[in-house]
Amino acid sequence: MSLAKCRRCGRLFNQVIDKNICPSCLEKEEEEFQRVKDFFLHHPQASIVEAAQETGVEKKFILQFVREGRLRIANMEEGGEPLFRCERCGKPIPEGRYCEECRKKIAELLSNQDKVKPVNEREYQRGNFYFKEKILRKKEEKD
Ligand SMILES: [Zn+2]
Ligand SMILES: [Zn+2]
Repeated sequence: MSLAKCRRCGRLFNQVIDKNICPSCLEKEEEEFQRVKDFFLHHPQASIVEAAQETGVEKKFILQFVREGRLRIANMEEGGEPLFRCERCGKPIPEGRYCEECRKKIAELLSNQDKVKPVNEREYQRGNFYFKEKILRKKEEKD
């Protein structure tokens, strides 16, 4: 168990599940999720704003459900504006943070970064003097 800060109420709590939300907020969130889900089941074309008004669940929490991929809704616009835009290129996207294209580019960048990582460790000892260090080496230099 580790101490975590609840993303909803900001209280510190003992983290038992892999989520940064405290047990009482989690319960509340589940209950809200059910309410929002039920609303969209009956009003599939409704907007998030309408859902927030009808369910009493804050818009930002509904958006969070969508962002987490727990909820998929038909009406992803609000006043003609797409709800989500790619954080990299600004293209409207159905969910998440990046569009398909940018996701690929980011994955590429990350895998390039991956090539620079500790591949070796060096230990040195003479008398009482001892150290251990990681040797940073690019993968390409291996061959
Ligand atoms: Zn909480
Ligand atoms: Zn993009």
